[in-house]
Amino acid sequence: MVNQKTVALVAHDNRKKDLIEWVEWNYTSLIKHRIVCTGTTGKLVDTAVTAKLEADGDSVSTYSITRLKSGPLGGDQQLGAMITEGKIDFVIFFWDPMEPQPHDVDVKALLRIGVLYNIPFACNRSSADFIISSPLMNEQYKPVVKDYSRYLQREVE
Ligand code: PGA
Repeated sequence: MVNQKTVALVAHDNRKKDLIEWVEWNYTSLIKHRIVCTGTTGKLVDTAVTAKLEADGDSVSTYSITRLKSGPLGGDQQLGAMITEGKIDFVIFFWDPMEPQPHDVDVKALLRIGVLYNIPFACNRSSADFIISSPLMNEQYKPVVKDYSRYLQREVE
């Protein structure tokens, strides 16, 4: 019995091809889970998954995809907010290590919030392979979040 998770998929333009290849390779596992993407990545992921489903004649799939805004237009921030609300189980984020992005600050914020909330977070294909093939994919898994109560109760003027 698959434990349905919510997986976020994001790729910068120079890494979209790599992510789509990974999605096509893993689509039978992925379609058992809820998929959330930034806008443009989501359009490509949806096209790729739909083509695979049609090719396999799969009409009773539980496949679902949610497309947020495009990353540079706020999609990374929307995703970060979903992480803080406990709505994302893991993130596959193929960011581009060779080019600065107009929304570098949003990218950094998303990486930070993923670490803060202890979300499994793959930034390259081998890490994504390890996550998707983990036995924990089929189990309940609640990330332990560090206790920030002392920070919240600190004295402020
Ligand atoms: P995009 O955004 O999927 O809309 O291209 C990705 C990103 O740059 O964060």
